[in-house]
Amino acid sequence: MIKKKYVIIGAGLSGLTTAYMLQKHGETDFLILESRDRSGGRIYTEKGIDYGATWFHNHHENVNALLDELEVNKFYQYSKGKSVLVYNTMAPAHYFENDPNSPSAYRIAGGSTAMIDKLISKIGNDKIQLNTTVTEINNREATVEVVAEKETYVAQKVVVTIPPRIATRIDFTSEELPKSVRKSMKDTHTWMSNAIKVGLTFKTPFWRNKNLSGTLIGQVGVVTDLYDHSDVADKTFSLMGFVNEGMRDVTAEERKQRILEHLQKYLGEEVLDYISYQEKDWSKDKNTSCNKIKSIYMSPRYGNPDFAKTYFNRKLIFSGAETSPVHGGYMDGAIYSGLLTAKKMID
Ligand SMILES: Cc1cc2nc3c(=O)[nH]c(=O)nc-3n(C[C@H](O)[C@H](O)[C@H](O)COP(=O)(O)OP(=O)(O)OC[C@H]3O[C@@H](n4cnc5c(N)ncnc54)[C@H](O)[C@@H]3O)c2cc1C
Repeated sequence: MIKKKYVIIGAGLSGLTTAYMLQKHGETDFLILESRDRSGGRIYTEKGIDYGATWFHNHHENVNALLDELEVNKFYQYSKGKSVLVYNTMAPAHYFENDPNSPSAYRIAGGSTAMIDKLISKIGNDKIQLNTTVTEINNREATVEVVAEKETYVAQKVVVTIPPRIATRIDFTSEELPKSVRKSMKDTHTWMSNAIKVGLTFKTPFWRNKNLSGTLIGQVGVVTDLYDHSDVADKTFSLMGFVNEGMRDVTAEERKQRILEHLQKYLGEEVLDYISYQEKDWSKDKNTSCNKIKSIYMSPRYGNPDFAKTYFNRKLIFSGAETSPVHGGYMDGAIYSGLLTAKKMID
């Protein structure tokens, strides 16, 4: 049995933000338990491509403030040149240009994982226990007991940052967690858990040389939206976007072929000279998604008041992007909830 003052379940942006704030307040007796073999949760950058979260805007004040504090740079999404609108697969492409007066979204220099890596460097790797899936949470007299496969942890306060619907897999001392809370957990869609992303890297930004921005939009296509995803220093050149969910159940080979055909049609045959091609279907990732896939394209209303309350006599707290009344579902919401939770823990 491992005893800690605080246990944080989940090493995504929310859990790491809480840990960072605890550390800043001199509270070092905590442990983060993470099911995956990596930290970051829905923030995941590989070979320079963000397969999870990417963009944020000026109004995402919590992201901007955290990046400033961590001294992680941001930069504008590349959007110069003509963008492609595919509104009908039979009709020729329609082109449009972005308004230079309305700035595009920001990206994080080094990929979104740069923010996660910086948080971890402040918190310390030894505070995160990977490959640890929590299965049970029990209310004990003055403590909360957290059970994982190989170990049991006991803490004065425990925070659950797992997306609410995924957290329904945990066996809570059921009679002490109101039924309404369990229902709210079940009913809360995990933002972007249905998304499929594709990323390709290239030797040159061939689209830019044709005065194309790399942006391609169109729900009717195999790729619903695509963007230039080159790095801040313009040293590696990439395209990244979302795959139409209609492509989920075809074979990986067929999907790849149809994606390449689509991109070739609108951006040119240079697409076929890619250096690397990768996809990530989040619906197949058990730490984010569940069996019943629900396709939602507009962020639902998040921040159910049930998640603002504490349970087990103020010893159990819910946190995470989906619990946030501010920009729920987004990185900004994850940070907001992480900050709020740190306050609840220290109080
Ligand atoms: C494809 C995609 C694109 C996105 N694009 C954007 C974007 O452009 N802009 C934006 O602002 N947001 C975007 N988001 C949303 C953003 O990623 C999330 O808001 C944010 O990362 C959520 O952080 P979190 O800590 O709340 O949750 P998570 O990142 O989900 O963290 C929860 C953690 O809990 C862990 N866990 C799960 N079960 C257990 C268990 N039983 N025991 C222990 N640990 C467990 C998980 O492995 C995970 O690490 C996107 C998400 C996806 C998937």
